[in-house]
Amino acid sequence: MVNSNVKKTVISIGSTACLCLLLLLVAVQHHRVQVEKVTGEDTGTRALDAQLSGAPEKRGFSAYLSKLTRGRREVEKPARSSASSADPAPVEDISADDIFIAVKTTKKFHQPRLNLLLDTWISRNAQQTYIFTDGEDEELKKKIGSHAINTNCSAAHSRQALSCKMAVEYDKFIESGKKWFCHVDDDNYVNVPSLVKFLSQYPHTQDMYLGKPSLDRPIEATERLGDNKMKPVNFWFATGGAGFCVSRGLALKMSPWASGGHFMNTAEKIRLPDDCTIGYIIESVLKVPLTRSNLFHSHLENLQQVQRSEIHKQITLSYGMFENKSNIINLKGAFPVEEDPSRFKSVHCLLYPDTPWCPPQVAF
Ligand code: UDP
Ligand code: MN
Repeated sequence: MVNSNVKKTVISIGSTACLCLLLLLVAVQHHRVQVEKVTGEDTGTRALDAQLSGAPEKRGFSAYLSKLTRGRREVEKPARSSASSADPAPVEDISADDIFIAVKTTKKFHQPRLNLLLDTWISRNAQQTYIFTDGEDEELKKKIGSHAINTNCSAAHSRQALSCKMAVEYDKFIESGKKWFCHVDDDNYVNVPSLVKFLSQYPHTQDMYLGKPSLDRPIEATERLGDNKMKPVNFWFATGGAGFCVSRGLALKMSPWASGGHFMNTAEKIRLPDDCTIGYIIESVLKVPLTRSNLFHSHLENLQQVQRSEIHKQITLSYGMFENKSNIINLKGAFPVEEDPSRFKSVHCLLYPDTPWCPPQVAF
């Protein structure tokens, strides 16, 4: 909206030279909005935002444009199947009960986002799913009981509020005694059988950090060491919006930087959002590399690239906006886009055709 107003103003001047000005204004305005998203109340693409705010020395116009280009290249890459599609032999016989799935949400999204998840994938996996929110909701408690956890964190989309929720997710996972910690956002569909199959390829007692980065290079951050000393650090992180998992073995090692109030302190030390802070603790502090999988999907990538025939193999899916366009998977399914804009209902009927509200199976 802001961008289109800028466009109109510039075009009305009517000079061809203004095209350059148009591009400059649009880019600068976009940059301003992106940076505001990190610190302000707005929602946004955390990974790209974080990179912009995390490296103030690289905020030059050309550096910004090249970052956007790289970001776009990354999101336009086809969603290839990961190595896991070769189905290597499982190393552990785990079940869904061994996984702690943390869904991060906020009170204003209970109705528009969370209900869809409760009606679809969570309905089949309520025993292993925990909802981390920031307000009381009797309706939610009726549906999922003690698995609705009020973190008492602020409802803002600020770095601090998001880290506050991640800190509670971590502590509850440790308390649960489960083998795997998996985090997702409230705009993710989780295909739990595929997640179980994937995690069973890795030993939960070893150091495992699994997910998908949204940047095509390590994030550049500055670590505050005290005494006003700063140290540049580079590390990979799995984007929270695609979902990621950490083995219990590794999670226990993260404790000095993640348990109790430590997570918030660590996040403050590098001034980056929650998912980057997880990457910092694991990759930068503990020196454990991220294991990538293309079976995790956020709306920072082009979701149209996910093939219908491959949907049942994917671990997470998402939906959202990308560059002002709707970004959803391409699926002719049980429901038209108007009735099912996220496509999650159609995905659910594809995976669980016996669901009572799914139309009788026809060839879509
Ligand atoms: N979120 C939150 N508080 C807010 C806004 C968002 O906890 O004030 C959560 C939201 O429920 C979601 C995640 O943060 O799980 C990411 O939010 P969103 O999808 O809106 O933004 P993105 O970062 O993916 O662009
Ligand atoms: Mn999102």
